[in-house]
Amino acid sequence: MSPATRDALRTPLEAATLARVAWLVGMRWVFVAGLLVCAGVGRLLLPDLPVLPFAVLALVAAAYNLLAHVLNSRVAALPEERKQPLVHGLIQGQVIADWLVLLTVVHYTGGIESPLLHVFIFHVVLSAIFLRPRFTVFALCFITVALNLLFAAEATGLIAPVVLKGLTNADRQHSWLHIGHFSLWYMSTLAVMALLLGAVMRGLRRREAEALRIRRRLEQANRDILRISEERVRLMHTMGHELRSPIAAAASMLSALELSQGPGLPPPVRTIHQRISARLLGLSGLISELLELAEQRSAQGAGRSAVMRRVEMGAFLQAVLEDQTERAREAGIRLRADWDEATPLAAGADPMLLQRVCENLLSNAIKYSRPGGEVCLALRGIEGDGAAFVEVTVRDEGIGIAPEQMPRLFTEFYRTPQSRRHTQEGTGLGLAITRELVESMGGTLGVESVLDVGSTFILRLPRLH
Ligand code: ADP
Repeated sequence: MSPATRDALRTPLEAATLARVAWLVGMRWVFVAGLLVCAGVGRLLLPDLPVLPFAVLALVAAAYNLLAHVLNSRVAALPEERKQPLVHGLIQGQVIADWLVLLTVVHYTGGIESPLLHVFIFHVVLSAIFLRPRFTVFALCFITVALNLLFAAEATGLIAPVVLKGLTNADRQHSWLHIGHFSLWYMSTLAVMALLLGAVMRGLRRREAEALRIRRRLEQANRDILRISEERVRLMHTMGHELRSPIAAAASMLSALELSQGPGLPPPVRTIHQRISARLLGLSGLISELLELAEQRSAQGAGRSAVMRRVEMGAFLQAVLEDQTERAREAGIRLRADWDEATPLAAGADPMLLQRVCENLLSNAIKYSRPGGEVCLALRGIEGDGAAFVEVTVRDEGIGIAPEQMPRLFTEFYRTPQSRRHTQEGTGLGLAITRELVESMGGTLGVESVLDVGSTFILRLPRLH
C-alpha cells in the first residue's frame, strides 16, 4: 500500500492516536509534579519513605519529557506519510520510559505491597486502545517479566526491599507464596483484560476502516455525479444555443414568405403556415426554458446564490396578478386576490426569481383551467416549528392532477395525460425550474390536487418581520 493510500485510509482512531503525543507530554508534566507532591506528603505520613529517589525520578521524567516535546514538534513539521511511523515510535519510546520510572516508583513504595501497582493496569488499557495490537502484547510481556524480576530480586535480597511501616508487610514482601499468588492473580487479570479489549478494538478498527472505505467510495460517487451533472448542464447550454438560431431563422423566413404572398395564400397553405409558426414558437419557448434550467443548475453548481432582499408581498403579488389579467381574460378565467391588506407581510426572497415563480404558477393555473373557472392568489403568514413563513397559494378549479402523477410532477419534461389532452402548449419544464428557484431562495413548494376539481400550489418563503 502506498503512503498516500495509507494516509487516505487513516481511521479516526488512528488520527486520535497521532494527536495523543502532545496529550501524553502534557500528562507527564502533571505526573512529575504529582510525584514530587506525593513524595513530600508521603514523607509526612510514612517516615521510612525515601524522598531522594523520587526527586531523581521526577528529574529523569522531566528530562525525557522535554526531549519528547522537542522531538514531537520536529515530527509535527514532517509530511503526513513520514509522520505516522515516527509518531508511533515516539509514543512507544515514551511509554517504555514511563514503565521503567513506574517500576522504580513501585520498588520505592513497597514492591509487591506497593499501592501504585494498579497504575500498570491503566497503561495496558491505554496501549490496547490507542496502540497497535503487537505493542499491547509486548506491554503485557514486559510488565509481567519486569515486575516478577523485581519481586524476585526483593524476595531474594538481591535488591533490598523498601519496607514502609504502616503500609507494607515485610513478611509478604519476602514470601514466595505471596509473590506467586499475587503474580498469578495480577498478571492473569492484566492478560484477560488486554485480550478482551484487544478483541473489541480489533472489531472497532475493522468497522472504522470499512466505514472509511465506504465514505471514500461515496465521496467519489458524489464527485462523479457532480461531474456528470455539470456535463449535462453544458450539453443543455450548447444544444439550446445551437438550436435557437436555426429556429429563429426558420420563423423569420416563414413570416417573410407570408408577407410576400399576402392574402393570396390559399387557405390550406395558410393553415399549414400557422401550424408551423405555432410549432416554432413552442420550440423556441422550450429552448428558452431549457436554457433557463441550465443557467439555474450552473448557478447552483458554481455556488451562486439568490440575491435575497426584503419583498413586501402584498404589493408584489398585486403587480404579478395585474400582469396576468389580460391572459386570464382571454382564457375566460376570473382572477381573485385573497389577502388582508391591513396586515402587511414581508418575505426574504430574490424579487426576480420570485416573479418568475409566481408567473409560472399563475400561468399554469390559467392554462389548466376551463373557461368560467376562478384562479385565486392568496397570501398569509404562518408560524410553525419555531420558524415564521409567508405562504402564497395559487388555487384553481381546473383539470386537477391524479394522485399517482404527483411524484413526477416536478420532474423535467413530465406532463400529465389530461394536461396533454387539455392543451398542446407546454414543455413540462416550468415546474422543475420553479421548484429549483424556490429552493434556491430557501423556500418550499408543494401541491395539493383533486382530479377534475382543481389544484392548489403552495409556496412558502422565510418571513421577515
Ligand atoms: P408545462 O409547460 O407543461 O405547463 P410545467 O412544468 O409548468 O410544464 O408543469 C408540468 C405539468 O404539471 C404540466 O404539464 C401539467 O401536466 C401539470 N400541471 C402544472 N400545473 C398544473 C395545474 N395548475 N393544474 C393541473 N396540472 C398542472
